[in-house]
Amino acid sequence: MSASQILATELLCQLMESGKAEINGKALLCDEHEVAGQQLLKERVLVLGPTLSWVTCPECGVEVAKILREIGSKKIRIRCDECGDVDTGHELQRTYKVNFNHLITLLGISLDLSPSSSKLIVPLKVWRLGISEKIRGKPITWYFARHLNDPAVAKRLLDQLRMDHASQTARIITSSDLPLPDGSPLTGYNVAKLSSLARLSQSRFLFFTERSGSQALPPKEEPLPTTSLRLVQEKGWAFVGGIKYELEGMQKNMLLSLIDAHAHRLERNVLGERCGSEAFPFQPIKFFGRNKEVYKAFVKYVPGEKVYELVIADEDQDWL
Ligand SMILES: [Zn+2]
Repeated sequence: MSASQILATELLCQLMESGKAEINGKALLCDEHEVAGQQLLKERVLVLGPTLSWVTCPECGVEVAKILREIGSKKIRIRCDECGDVDTGHELQRTYKVNFNHLITLLGISLDLSPSSSKLIVPLKVWRLGISEKIRGKPITWYFARHLNDPAVAKRLLDQLRMDHASQTARIITSSDLPLPDGSPLTGYNVAKLSSLARLSQSRFLFFTERSGSQALPPKEEPLPTTSLRLVQEKGWAFVGGIKYELEGMQKNMLLSLIDAHAHRLERNVLGERCGSEAFPFQPIKFFGRNKEVYKAFVKYVPGEKVYELVIADEDQDWL
């Protein structure tokens, strides 16, 4: 059973990567995909799509043939200019399409997310599934995206991650083949293909690692950075020259505000507002009495334009 569930999940990914996420009924149910196709229908991740009036003639495999009528319960008659009238299975005029609403619901159920937590970000392409917190203090923000090989889609998701302050906690599930193309905006992020993570079982996806009792996606052990803001969101740490600085609340707020700001720049008082400070005028450096090294390494005042700008370390180029 589980082999067919794995094939079904792989087929589902393939279909989601096609433009309209649709497949002809004959291709789905009469050929090599049959078992996987039945599984997708049973779980309702595929549903009936538009009925065709024209099909490719199955006799010659070349001409476009018009559907004349149904004959009996499972056959149709079609007319091909080359082959004349041909009788064939009715699946040929059917199409099946991915039922994205149901798919997103299933993913949410499978990850134990609250039912109302999913949010559409790009229609039919990118969703935020919700936030889980299996280990206290270590939330994971889950996303699902198709067509992630398209840099425009990847960029849109990246923008959303930043808006959600989820750059450090995001796990992205996709139907796209990995690795993502060189230079993808999501290089360095935690992205995994659905069919390599899970199989579609009865009314849920079973994540492979669940069988061993561990969490869905064990966090990767990464070496600590040298000069980087990568762990500001998750741990409240900044690194300068290999030294770890534990940030105070306001320091963390300031860095995160600049990380999330457009072009990583903010005017003085806007920065103050976003940090929840009532000081006027807002003077960022005053809050870095401790951890001056962090201020020097990552915050720059641009006098001509009167803005504070984030300094992006080499190590952070891939995500900032
Ligand atoms: Zn023909």
